[in-house]
Amino acid sequence: MVKFVGTRDIIELVNRVGIAQLFRELVREAETDFMRWPEFEKVARVASHSTDGVIELMPTSDGETYGLKFVNGHPANTRTGLRTVTAFGLLADVATGYPNFLAEMTITTALRTAATSALAAKYLARKDAKVMALIGLGAQSEFQALAFKAVLGIQTLRVFDLDKEASRKFARNMADSGLMITHAQTAEEAVTGADIITTVTADKRNATILSDNMVGTGVHLNAVGGDCPGKTELHRDILLRSKIFTEFTPQTRIEGEIQQLPHDHQVTELWEVIAGIKAGREADRDITLFDSVGFAIEDFSTLRVIRRLAEEHGLSREIDLLPGEGDPKDLYGLIRNAAAPTLLSA
Ligand code: NAD
Repeated sequence: MVKFVGTRDIIELVNRVGIAQLFRELVREAETDFMRWPEFEKVARVASHSTDGVIELMPTSDGETYGLKFVNGHPANTRTGLRTVTAFGLLADVATGYPNFLAEMTITTALRTAATSALAAKYLARKDAKVMALIGLGAQSEFQALAFKAVLGIQTLRVFDLDKEASRKFARNMADSGLMITHAQTAEEAVTGADIITTVTADKRNATILSDNMVGTGVHLNAVGGDCPGKTELHRDILLRSKIFTEFTPQTRIEGEIQQLPHDHQVTELWEVIAGIKAGREADRDITLFDSVGFAIEDFSTLRVIRRLAEEHGLSREIDLLPGEGDPKDLYGLIRNAAAPTLLSA
């Protein structure tokens, strides 16, 4: 039998565990997996692009467990009441190839993306960072805000979205978050005085959410929304002034902000900083940029945390995704044994 965790179960789980505690667990698990990064099978995700979006498959394996996520990204969806990003994922046993866990990953992707952002900032932002600017107040935004509060102790947010309704929704959702939030009139106003700038907008084009003059020394940039060919958020000149950190560089060269740079532009993979192999931020004046696109190992780590917590809280169910016991060579017999006698003779 395969264990299943659906959307309702995830919602219940987040409320029972508490989102701050959940973020800390997700960051801890991801940190452990980033430290053993060389053990994983790594491949740039398989992307099927269309006019309005992309559908992607994201696989990895550590030799014992295999993980896979199906995820889409369709920025125009919200115009017709659909979400930009939806996803589901699974874990399987490498030895037998049998899947053993299936889960919703729409909410879970938002949790894992925010946890990865917070993990990167823990290593790359200035230690005294207190104020974060957040540009783009859509589906991912509250998760980003709460992860940075839980993991880095961010207390003050300066936020902006072009869509006033998205800003009102964010204000409503964050009313009892304990964060001090200022709604700015422009992105430029939002980033003024920020130690960390998170961009999490959705637009299928090379946008300029941040121009060069908006990014001062010492800032950590958490660029989340640019994650497809032809879909970026930062002006190229910012990249030229930044120390750039990636997840899996071959994938980020195709999808991240660095698609704007030559293929030999020097970048560092985040796992190398976490494992102590390479330097992260070296001076308070450095501009660090986490060029986030999302990588399969983060989904793998997240699925394992969700599987463990859902089990502990009695929130996973068994589904009959696989045929049960019996002669493994007699697959047809399952149909024959279940059929009414009249049907068999028909
Ligand atoms: P969403 O459509 O729910 O929200 C995006 C918001 O950005 C909207 O409210 C929109 O009004 C705002 N926006 C667009 N252009 C803007 C601009 N110029 N200035 C200010 N605001 C602007 O999308 P979402 O689900 O929150 O996802 C946001 C982005 O994050 C998407 O591009 C998605 O593909 C990406 N994403 C990345 C990762 C990752 O791992 N890096 C994971 C999940 C989603």
